[in-house]
Amino acid sequence: MINITFPDKQVRQYPEGITGLDIAKSLSNSLAKEVLSVIVNKETWDIARPITSDSEIIFQTWDNNEGKHAFWHTSAHLMAETLECFYPGIKFGIGPAIENGFYYDVDLPGNTTISETDLVKIEQKMLELARQKNPVVRQDISKDDALAYFSSKGDEYKIELINELQDGTISLYKQGNFTDLCRGPHLPNTEYIKAIKLTSIAGAYWRGNEKNKQLTRIYGITFPKQKQLEEYLVILEEARKRDHRRLGKELELFTFSQNVGQGLPLWLPKGATLRELLETFLKKVQKKYGYVQVISPHIGQKELYEKSGHWAKYGKDSFRPISTPAEGEFFMLKPMNCPHHCEIYKYKPHSYKDLPLRFAEFGTVYRYEQSGELHGLTRVRGFTQDDAHIFCRPDQLKEEFIKVIDIVLYIFKTLEFKNFTTQISLRDPEDHEKYIGSDENWEKAETAIIEAVREKGIDAVIEMGEAAFYGPKLDFMVKDALGRKWQLGTIQVDYNLPERFDLEYNGADNQKHRPVMIHRAPFGSMERFVAVLIEHTAGKFPLWLAPDQAVIIPVSEKFNEFSKNVLNLLNNSDIRTVFDERNEKVGKKIRDNELKRIPYLLVLGEKEQETNTISVRKQGEGDKGNMKIEEFINLIRNEVENQLKEI
Ligand SMILES: [Zn+2]
Ligand SMILES: [Zn+2]
Repeated sequence: MINITFPDKQVRQYPEGITGLDIAKSLSNSLAKEVLSVIVNKETWDIARPITSDSEIIFQTWDNNEGKHAFWHTSAHLMAETLECFYPGIKFGIGPAIENGFYYDVDLPGNTTISETDLVKIEQKMLELARQKNPVVRQDISKDDALAYFSSKGDEYKIELINELQDGTISLYKQGNFTDLCRGPHLPNTEYIKAIKLTSIAGAYWRGNEKNKQLTRIYGITFPKQKQLEEYLVILEEARKRDHRRLGKELELFTFSQNVGQGLPLWLPKGATLRELLETFLKKVQKKYGYVQVISPHIGQKELYEKSGHWAKYGKDSFRPISTPAEGEFFMLKPMNCPHHCEIYKYKPHSYKDLPLRFAEFGTVYRYEQSGELHGLTRVRGFTQDDAHIFCRPDQLKEEFIKVIDIVLYIFKTLEFKNFTTQISLRDPEDHEKYIGSDENWEKAETAIIEAVREKGIDAVIEMGEAAFYGPKLDFMVKDALGRKWQLGTIQVDYNLPERFDLEYNGADNQKHRPVMIHRAPFGSMERFVAVLIEHTAGKFPLWLAPDQAVIIPVSEKFNEFSKNVLNLLNNSDIRTVFDERNEKVGKKIRDNELKRIPYLLVLGEKEQETNTISVRKQGEGDKGNMKIEEFINLIRNEVENQLKEI
């Protein structure tokens, strides 16, 4: 018999060689139906794999990443099997599970290509094979046997992968007529897969290297229930409509120019207004919390980043250093603001009474990203962080954390992110060696974060071993309107940079001490944040943030004079108003401006001119009736004030 320990620390005895699935069955039928993989002593296993020694286990279902991954990874194998039916001689690269589904990189025989219409026939065949309920069988074999198998098949990519593996046993997984090199884990059989959608085809170089052959990448997603696929497709369609690249163009927020360079966004007037509003908003909040603005240049000497350690870590993959006519002088495009802010800290000696110092900067940084990785505003080569660095005493950490959390929560409230989760990343308790800083400081910092989060009444997941080597951190993940998760707002403690830059302050004991540094950027970067905001709101920004808050629509040219007067009055009252002067029907003008997501539409005609009023329509709410201009100004002001109200 072996002892199986469950997450709640309960221990039960089972016969040696029992599988995860059988353990699940012994607990409940519904669990047995839902379990997809099982974590055995921190390693994810097939639920059909025999457990032969005392183990700690955690079941993984569709609600866990590890469960989904086993499901999608099995689906990738099923797709590969199907592709081999249709395209004999096809060779396989890698086929991992990803965040939403899976893909497989394949080398099609001869001049074969796959089109979108082929995907439908592949889907159908996959379903047919899935229904055969073919068991997925794990086989542990020697490296030589594995090489022999894939050599006989002529699968050069798998051979390359196997050659890189360490000697010892290698696992293969077989279902139906298809065998793949794979670490697993997998579902017990193919029948779990009930709904399939192959979503797209792309080109992908073998191992991401442009010098290698370009393979065909086929993406797909599968579900245990047909209904889940249907729901997913609805969300996918909605996501397509909300795609920030599409809306950014339609709403004239930003653009890209191949002449300027890829990954370098150009902000159009409306986008620039939006950004400016966000910056002003954040500056105001930060000021209230004692931040001071600093400004640092876009480049810095290479030595600065050698000192900070950024060169050693990112140098090889960054923009090349800029040389000057002077001998041996090199500058880097700034990849991080932190080293600059450390130097700002050192501009004069500090006493313990000066701390905390909170330096904030909308600092633009440049990071090299491969062209294939670039994506709208979410992956760019130049971006502006809403950065700040807090230099404080160790005993001030908790209070500073609470303040940063307050700022983050205020931002979420004001920008209508109602769902968010938090994660605290701590040290690996079994390996203190890999972290910089004393045990005492780490304990202080970790306790400070945990207490700060608790005092704010936030439910945080604690992850051991997820901290950076230089300090623990707190992360916020928001869920957008479509339920997609975005990481925003990291608060990171840092013991490393103060050490490297030899930062100090005079303590009450008149001795030199090291301050602690906190990095924090609630938005992350303006670019990425705006992208998330566009997709979350579908471009319908809250009134306070809308680049245009109102549009004036005269029913005919006769009212242009009156319209211009109203326009001036509103703009002079700081209500961002535009005038639709086009010679078009009122109905069309209303529709067009609704598509531009302008919150208020003001229709002006005979009646309005005579009574010096405006007829107000609100986006999504319809007619609000006639009102005096003063009344409208107050309406807007109240609505904005309400949106910006503190919690
Ligand atoms: Zn696999
Ligand atoms: Zn930083």
